[in-house]
Amino acid sequence: MPAPNPNACRSLLSLESVPREQLNAWLDRAAEFAVAAQKPSPAAAGVSTGTAAGAATATSSLLRGHVVANLFYEDSTRTRNSFEVAARRLGADVLNFSAAGSSAKKGESLLDTARTLAAIGADVLVVRHAAAGAAAQVARAVSRPVVNAGDGRHAHPTQGLLDLLTMRQRWGDVAGRHVAIVGDIANSRVARTALAGLRTLGARVTLVGPATLLPRAFAALGAELSYELDPLLPHIDAIMMLRIQQERLAPATIPSLREYAGRYSLTMDRLNRCKPDVLVMHPGPMNRGVEIDEDAADDPRAVVLQQVANGVAVRMAILEWALS
Ligand code: ASP
Repeated sequence: MPAPNPNACRSLLSLESVPREQLNAWLDRAAEFAVAAQKPSPAAAGVSTGTAAGAATATSSLLRGHVVANLFYEDSTRTRNSFEVAARRLGADVLNFSAAGSSAKKGESLLDTARTLAAIGADVLVVRHAAAGAAAQVARAVSRPVVNAGDGRHAHPTQGLLDLLTMRQRWGDVAGRHVAIVGDIANSRVARTALAGLRTLGARVTLVGPATLLPRAFAALGAELSYELDPLLPHIDAIMMLRIQQERLAPATIPSLREYAGRYSLTMDRLNRCKPDVLVMHPGPMNRGVEIDEDAADDPRAVVLQQVANGVAVRMAILEWALS
């Protein structure tokens, strides 16, 4: 039996059962980092970098002397790079581990790898793995805070926070807003995580997709379910489009991508039937021409790159919290 992790309370494994006050505290801090990032860089302005704990600055030495280890067993563009930028902006050192090219190829287990990185000096472990529950296992086995960067279909909490931050920046408050999450709900950790955060903050969520990708069990988590997208369009405040998770898709779940796209893709025609100020969101990577059309992805209503930028601010807030 591994000894219990004394840092488990500083681990972020999912947004389910995180209280509203804690969600808002993370979002408030991330919002400060996001604002600081908009200001001219201290170097450009001829000002020294901020170091004081408490004040959010674009770069600081709050985490100087700490090592953030990124353990990625699944591909990533946005999450891994933004954890790295977030850690560096706070003055931390970064250790990047990816399974390809490591001793994982020689049979070393996830837990032994995590223990090894902790022994090298990692103070916090950021874990992405194809197995649901992988980050929680690491958190039990290694006496370091752990941040889940995506575990199979289960959870992707920093993605959920950056989605919430993006909505809050537009609306001030997500309570009472209506968000549609469209696509491969069954295989999406993003949908499950956004649902948890949005429900805690009082938003209404409709999950949309074909029956084979929309498990009825989500209704018990507070979601409304719809097999049709078109009737919802005029009523929603945000539409979050999801990629078909081919890597997790059971064979023959959808008859064809073309048929799927015909019913669920965000085309310009569908976008123009939404409210004029609807937020178009996507966690990336986008498969243009499948779940979202070229023009809709580049439309001014799309906030996809704002979501990406907010990912850095959110990860700064979470690393600071985990190591505080
Ligand atoms: N990037 C997101 C994730 O890691 C969404 C996706 O891959 O479609 O879950």
